[in-house]
Amino acid sequence: MKKIKYKINKLRKEILKYDYFYHTLDKPIVSDAEYDYLFNQLYNLESKYKQFITPDSPTQKAGSNLLDKFKKVSHFFPMLSLENTFDLKGYLKFENRIKKKYMINSAIDFCCELKIDGIAVSLIYEEGNLIRAATRGDGFFGENITNNIRTIKSIPSKLKGFNIPKRLEIRGEVFMLKSDFFELNIESFTGKKKYFSNPRNAAAGSLRQIDSKITAKRKLMFFCHGFNFFEETESFKTHYDVLMQLKNWGIPVNEEVLICFNHLEILNFYRKFEKYRASFDFDIDGIVIKLNSLYLQKKLGFNSKSPRWAIAFKFFSKEEISKLEDVKFEVGRTGVITPVAYFNPVYISGVLIKKASLYNKNEIDRLNLHFNDYIIIKRSGDVIPKIISVIIKNRSKNAKKVFFPIYCPVCNSELLLNKEEKIVRCLSGLICDAQKKKLFCHFFSKNALDANGLGPKVIYKLIQKKVVLNLIDFFYLTKEQLKSLSNIGEKKSIKIIETIVKSKKTTMNRFIYALGIFSVGEIISQKLSNYFIFPDNLVNASQKELESIDGIGKVVANNIFNYFSISENRKLVSKLIEILDIAPYHNQCFNKNNVLNKNIVITGIFKDFSRSKLKAILIKLGARISNKISKKTELLIFGKKVGSKFFEASQLNIETMNEEELNSLIKKENN
Ligand code: NAD
Repeated sequence: MKKIKYKINKLRKEILKYDYFYHTLDKPIVSDAEYDYLFNQLYNLESKYKQFITPDSPTQKAGSNLLDKFKKVSHFFPMLSLENTFDLKGYLKFENRIKKKYMINSAIDFCCELKIDGIAVSLIYEEGNLIRAATRGDGFFGENITNNIRTIKSIPSKLKGFNIPKRLEIRGEVFMLKSDFFELNIESFTGKKKYFSNPRNAAAGSLRQIDSKITAKRKLMFFCHGFNFFEETESFKTHYDVLMQLKNWGIPVNEEVLICFNHLEILNFYRKFEKYRASFDFDIDGIVIKLNSLYLQKKLGFNSKSPRWAIAFKFFSKEEISKLEDVKFEVGRTGVITPVAYFNPVYISGVLIKKASLYNKNEIDRLNLHFNDYIIIKRSGDVIPKIISVIIKNRSKNAKKVFFPIYCPVCNSELLLNKEEKIVRCLSGLICDAQKKKLFCHFFSKNALDANGLGPKVIYKLIQKKVVLNLIDFFYLTKEQLKSLSNIGEKKSIKIIETIVKSKKTTMNRFIYALGIFSVGEIISQKLSNYFIFPDNLVNASQKELESIDGIGKVVANNIFNYFSISENRKLVSKLIEILDIAPYHNQCFNKNNVLNKNIVITGIFKDFSRSKLKAILIKLGARISNKISKKTELLIFGKKVGSKFFEASQLNIETMNEEELNSLIKKENN
């Protein structure tokens, strides 16, 4: 028991420290995932050992201490946090608790709103005039930030309309638009000023400035989500009615408010905004569900930390903590060794993640990774899992460091570090089984020779049984050889042979791509085929000539030149040229002037094109496509549901084009 008490106290101390840095100083020193992890540990311990719960525990109170630089004001009504859940089960528990308490069997109406990720403030209006504004503070006392709040354009200093109460409290969220946050950080970066880690921190830091002129410059916004009346009022029965009235009095209320009568409607609302959250210009971290009846709200009241009539249904965090189980070093098609971290599975943004690429040796060094480390994982760009950092203080004393291997984990030959490209490679080529398997699969893949039906399973079996030793062998396969493999009969073997024969007829760009030369992807293959027209010209090109091609840099030119300098490769390629029927590259551009001869980035979802189709069309129009917005980007082509690329582009004043404009350009070029 002593041990438990010690652990609880230690956790409390730590959490209170983080609360202070986050709420009081607006300078979090740990990620939200790490904070929530510790908070949950404490919550679980306190739930099990209730005798240790004290009112000063972070699980029992909202917010944190106040900054001395502001005057302290006492809240008229406590400003609390929200109960929260990450799943429907948690919500149903909340709903059932209410229904059980009031023995309600029928549907109840709930008011659903977006959960804005900002700073909670209280605004007091007297006779319709804004007279005081305060932060949430510790829930009972807040900081007087009236002068700063007055600089926020969307907050009226005077309410408009009729029947305005003598005194009224408005509660809501001050936040910063993502686009304004990007702009502020660009300014901060160039002016070597404080850099904010996210829009919420930027808003908090901007709001709690002694000099309100600084706040005024920061373009803060406000949405109201709560209120308190000081006198009994008969005119309003529901939360929704009041929000609509507040709107009429000039208070900004977000338009996404919906009355729901059952959990399915609530789930739909949740899913809709979870899907679209990235396309909003402000951060939301969930939805808030509130009992709509003001009468029932009053009856339910509050506990020490949150109202009993509301719950936040949070979106899955973009960051989670897990424990590193293993690091495997995978050998790629071109011999590049990629370390991959395997960890205890965690849900991030609703997806179960159990591994993440560690990219290269530098990344392992950056993280100073040890086996069994506690790691913080996020899905960068909301998609690709990435380990952001390690919680070093949780590392066990005898943890073993993760070292990059010196020898290839598959063929055991010595690995080579290319410092310039920050990669480690196995140079054994087709001698290395891992590379052989991957290259053969790549050679016949959809965007290469497209031998549909000759998949990895058959290829692996052929390699294993030593039926094929090199790429050429595939073109001389017999029915009998194929039938000697398990699960391949007469029909299937005929089909495989047919598909290989069919794949012989290909194009120059597909052929170059199929060779799997290091750093030569589809775009470079297009450029090479456009320039060299016939494969022999490419095989005999000098490094200088390769470098002279638009869009081919020194490193790529060097890789191509090196590939064709190896006599084995030259032999293989000339045999393939003999066997295959390679159509020379005809300029398939719609327009020889290359109307889209620009550095282009694509974002969003397109009605008329898949991503790969769109890329192919743009390349034909002369585009150079990249995945990231940079200063070199000249045009952003966007579809629906755009992400952060759109805001980044607008910050850099990059030209944009929507799908309609793109379609009309394509039509024009086709005519
Ligand atoms: P919370 O952010 O989970 O939710 C409560 C707040 O939501 C309310 O106070 C309210 O201001 C706001 N809100 C937004 N939209 C709303 C709406 N439509 N209706 C009602 N309320 C709405 O809780 P919290 O107590 O403010 O903060 C706790 C969270 O902050 C933690 O889960 C953690 O992720 C983070 N935190 C991080 C650190 C750190 O060091 N990284 C430290 C402390 C807290």
